Amino acid sequence: MFDEVLAQEKAQEIITNFIKAGRLPQSLIFYGPRGVGKFLMAKSIVKYLNCLNADEKSRGTDNCKVCGRIDREIYPDMTVVRTEKTVTKSGQEKDSKEIKIDQIREVVRKAQFKPFEGENKFFIIDGAEAMNIVSENSFLKTLEEPLPDNYIILICHNINKILPTIFSRCIKIKFDSVKEDFLKKIIKKQFEIEDSLAEKLSLLSNGSMHNVGILIEDDMYKDIFKILESIIKIISADIINIDELFSISTKIKDMEIQYIDYLLDLLLLFFNESYIMSLGNIERKEFFKYYLNFKSKSIKLKSFNNIISELLRSKYYLLNTNVDIKLLIENFIIKARENLS
Ligand SMILES: [Zn+2]
Repeated sequence: MFDEVLAQEKAQEIITNFIKAGRLPQSLIFYGPRGVGKFLMAKSIVKYLNCLNADEKSRGTDNCKVCGRIDREIYPDMTVVRTEKTVTKSGQEKDSKEIKIDQIREVVRKAQFKPFEGENKFFIIDGAEAMNIVSENSFLKTLEEPLPDNYIILICHNINKILPTIFSRCIKIKFDSVKEDFLKKIIKKQFEIEDSLAEKLSLLSNGSMHNVGILIEDDMYKDIFKILESIIKIISADIINIDELFSISTKIKDMEIQYIDYLLDLLLLFFNESYIMSLGNIERKEFFKYYLNFKSKSIKLKSFNNIISELLRSKYYLLNTNVDIKLLIENFIIKARENLS
């Protein structure tokens, strides 16, 4: 399935498992650098789900009547939104920098119709970071409570430009620029560390050498792994251990802000991956071999969204206010526990 998207085995595997289990999330974000197959993958999904061919192997790649129209973007149940070309006064064509509010209103409107031909409607926002804040806000409800026959895929090259409220409502699937194996080799060589640590770092670095740098510097990775593990342990324990909670929040309080911020990023990644795994992607266990005790099965979409929102809120307070960090961490852990119980 989805063999036309090259070198993205992980994304391919996640999506294949979603579809096989009949649990494709209705709001997805594909993120990663430009030109690595995000849009192609989105289109492949629409083709696979609507192809006239029942044969599993050629489904979606057979160029049947439906697939052909999806490829040419003229299939009525698929809407692609991207920045429009505008013509300047001198007659030159120019890419507009923004997706216009009218384009998003059109999506919101279309989302309420019945599908024309197939069983579902698909909306692909290509370059979702080009939505301005008004567009993003008008899109929220459609994204948060999609009708049962709507699938929305946001394609995003710059994840930092997406509103946290949008981001937290979607299942995020990362498209790699550097394969993790490759990254692992670079890390091993550059920092002269042992194999198992290089693997751990590459898994937790979210594909970014910059993150690896942060972890390696001052041996921070040792502390951060330990703290991450403790937090996950407290969150998933049947009964909360107050002593452990206070000891971990005290430890975090004394860390530099950039490391706390990074720790929150790791937690974001952790919960996103947990959710993906709980949707039937057991192969994701690879990511969790360090945290096998975590009860990922108990996460429901709403709880997942709550936890992600809570993390984004904590990040915001951490970076923009003089918040009491000890309280912030304790509050997050307690709220996460509530959402998992
Ligand atoms: Zn087809």
